[in-house]
Amino acid sequence: MESKKQTVLIVDDMAANIEVLDSVLGDECEILFATNGEDAIEIAADHLPDIILLDVVMPNMDGYEVCARLKANHKTRDIPIIFITAMNQEEEESKGLNAGGIDYITKPICPSVVKARVRNQLELKRYRDHLKELSSLDGLTGIANRRQFDEWLDYEWRRARRSQIPITLLMMDIDYFKAYNDHYGHLAGDDCLKRVAEILKETARRPADFPARYGGEEFVLLLAEADAAGAVRVAEGLQQRMKSANIPHDFSDVAPYVTLSIGVGAIVPSDSQSSHQLIESADKCLYTAKKNGRNRIEAGPELPGGR
Ligand code: GH3
Ligand code: MG
Ligand code: MG
Repeated sequence: MESKKQTVLIVDDMAANIEVLDSVLGDECEILFATNGEDAIEIAADHLPDIILLDVVMPNMDGYEVCARLKANHKTRDIPIIFITAMNQEEEESKGLNAGGIDYITKPICPSVVKARVRNQLELKRYRDHLKELSSLDGLTGIANRRQFDEWLDYEWRRARRSQIPITLLMMDIDYFKAYNDHYGHLAGDDCLKRVAEILKETARRPADFPARYGGEEFVLLLAEADAAGAVRVAEGLQQRMKSANIPHDFSDVAPYVTLSIGVGAIVPSDSQSSHQLIESADKCLYTAKKNGRNRIEAGPELPGGR
């Protein structure tokens, strides 16, 4: 299978240097370029290149500072950086590596060396991306796993705290799923989980919606930028879809098809709270939904924020 071309961002204040590198790498990679640090940071965040070739000596913002800023942004911090230095001094090389660079290239550049080094690093990057994808997805359903969800929640929580917007969480659990497994078999149970994950994905349409398998027959849907009322509407839509999907369940006490109980937690995060409180709140509501009869939605009060 032909794999997609990887993208290289070349940053150098001298256009001539960019041209040289472009002629060396242009055949095998997509090339982006910037001639100053500010542009480089913006382009990196917008396009998420697979690697950055970063000149050390530039006016205004030097390569080390650009590197530090890229490392400070969660979006760009994992992009590998190769420093380009004219100085060919051990001191500079170690400074670059300490700043978070993974390799360095000295000017004037030798095309075959540049090609080989960039190729090596791109291969590693492809492999890392692949591993990351494997380790962040649930093996059965193909949606995000708990680990990935925890990371995403952490990020959205901090974003919501800064902007003081609500963040809401749907926590859901399939009703009478043990009975489903017992009567239809574990493989049919697996298929049912896949169907529910599909339905959850169809429900999570907006870019900031994040569905995940939380564990067993429990799923979560994180809604950034939705208030409690909006989240309840999403939960209602989800239950409607479950009804339409009509996955037969003759051994459920609540409906002839597979249903979900859903707890909705909503918080405008304050400095003193942790994202754990959002999970706890949604979990409590889920428990109430089970206790009150299943196949229903329970929402907690929107917990106030403030700093
Ligand atoms: P409730 O309505 O109170 O939620 O009851 P329940 O039967 O759904 O809940 P319980 O916790 O008793 O049972 C959950 C079942 O989910 C038991 C377990 O075997 C099943 N399960 C968990 N993970 C998987 C999985 O990956 N595949 C299959 N087929 N079943 C699973
Ligand atoms: Mg259950
Ligand atoms: Mg359960």
